[in-house]
Amino acid sequence: MRDEAIQSDCIIVGAGLVGTILSIALSSQGLNITLIEREKTETQGRRDARSLVLSAGTVGILKSIDAWSAISSACTPIEKILVSEKGVLPSVTLKAIESGLDVLGYSCPAYLLLDNLRKKAFTYKSLRFLDGTEFRGMRLTKLGVEADLYSANSVVGAEARLIVAADGANSDVRRVSGISVDKKNYREVALVCKVSVSNPTTAMALERFTEQGVLAFIPVGGHDYVSVYCLSDSELICVKELDDKAYASLLEERIGGRLGALQLVGPRYSYPLLSQRALSLCAERLLLLGNAANVVHPNAAQGLNLGIRDIADLASLIDCNVPDIGCEQLLSRYTKLRHKDHQTIHAFTDSLGGVFTSKISPFITVRRVAMLLASRSVVFRRKIVASFTGTGAQFRRSS
Ligand SMILES: Cc1cc2nc3c(=O)[nH]c(=O)nc-3n(C[C@H](O)[C@H](O)[C@H](O)COP(=O)(O)OP(=O)(O)OC[C@H]3O[C@@H](n4cnc5c(N)ncnc54)[C@H](O)[C@@H]3O)c2cc1C
Repeated sequence: MRDEAIQSDCIIVGAGLVGTILSIALSSQGLNITLIEREKTETQGRRDARSLVLSAGTVGILKSIDAWSAISSACTPIEKILVSEKGVLPSVTLKAIESGLDVLGYSCPAYLLLDNLRKKAFTYKSLRFLDGTEFRGMRLTKLGVEADLYSANSVVGAEARLIVAADGANSDVRRVSGISVDKKNYREVALVCKVSVSNPTTAMALERFTEQGVLAFIPVGGHDYVSVYCLSDSELICVKELDDKAYASLLEERIGGRLGALQLVGPRYSYPLLSQRALSLCAERLLLLGNAANVVHPNAAQGLNLGIRDIADLASLIDCNVPDIGCEQLLSRYTKLRHKDHQTIHAFTDSLGGVFTSKISPFITVRRVAMLLASRSVVFRRKIVASFTGTGAQFRRSS
């Protein structure tokens, strides 16, 4: 038998990074939140080798919702990014100081980010967290919307004025609501692995365009980096056959020896890459956020940063004392507010992939001209930094 539905102001489906940060933002505004997660807390994120880069703009947002202090000790600052192409001069160094910033961003192991933000979310008494619980359906009610939730030993209902789909790229909420997506499969994977190097650089990330794909090294403190190698499916087959020592030598050679001798210090994990955009961000009493709304290529470390700007804009609309947070007016204002940023990031990340990995001659020319321009023009470098850090005019939110 089913108990009476749990009542709250907002149901958030998915307690990944976006759902968790949203729950902090809305709880801090005094709203009652029901946060639903399919996975059990003890096991979630344990096989995630990534270190995610949070841009300077994102750090500002996290500070504004009092979430930065929960993660800052686990973060490593990035003040410079060295961008280079194998066999081609010049290389380009993007520096925070050139753009009047202290840092370009911070890297943080994904599982630590989630653990620490969850702990912060749980400090709010107005938050009800149901892990090991799956969303399977929903219907409109007099008050707003009711979701059907399934766990190992019970079926529960949850009712609220608004339901937010933060349940990732394969969002069940999006599917149930009938919103379709535009999808592009890059036929690439990101091969991610933690490495230790003999020659670390201080507060510097490296990005190198190789014939086989984009290779990035993200500093995570001391001699350790997380390497992210975006490879075509066919390249992956060759690389997968290499043992740890041979893969370390390959990375060492492909980054041009800039980090000295390399050693793998963790297993390799692969993440399939795609670009996906929901054709609508909302339906009646429903909003899509984070990967449920937009998935982008990780070449510019933008996906989560984009989701966090979504949260900031949603919170700023709710802050205007709207009596009904699921009303059509608020949802359509949110959709209008986020359109340009979504479009810009999709275009930016997609074209970056095209231009910087293409073996076709016009693209190679564009790439070389861009590198040359960036090496000579501080104005151009500042523009690139503004795009990476979320501090450019196109990212600025109206308040
Ligand atoms: C290799 C790689 C590197 C990246 N690096 C960066 C970076 O440096 N910087 C950056 O900004 N972005 C980066 N990204 C993108 C970033 O990882 C994503 O944008 C972000 O993690 C999306 O978070 P999310 O919470 O929207 O989705 P998810 O992390 O997918 O979370 C969705 C949650 O919903 C839960 N769920 C799903 N279905 C249900 C259901 N029916 N009921 C209940 N719960 C459900 C899932 O269990 C999960 O916990 C990277 C991506 C990749 C692939």
